[in-house]
Amino acid sequence: MFTCINQSCGTQWQLSDVVIKDEGQGPLFRCALCGARNYLKRVETKDGRVIYKQIEGKPLK
Ligand SMILES: [Zn+2]
Repeated sequence: MFTCINQSCGTQWQLSDVVIKDEGQGPLFRCALCGARNYLKRVETKDGRVIYKQIEGKPLK
């Protein structure tokens, strides 16, 4: 579950609701309601699955 970073929006999204893309600063999804960029961190689990964790603000270069 992700929560839109835009505090006046705050919509919660399931992973299946969002389109994850990479615009050069790491994975992110755009909130479908307000358009805010929500940055994610790609994490590989021990059993080889890929999950995404939401991060605060923008990733450091
Ligand atoms: Zn939003």
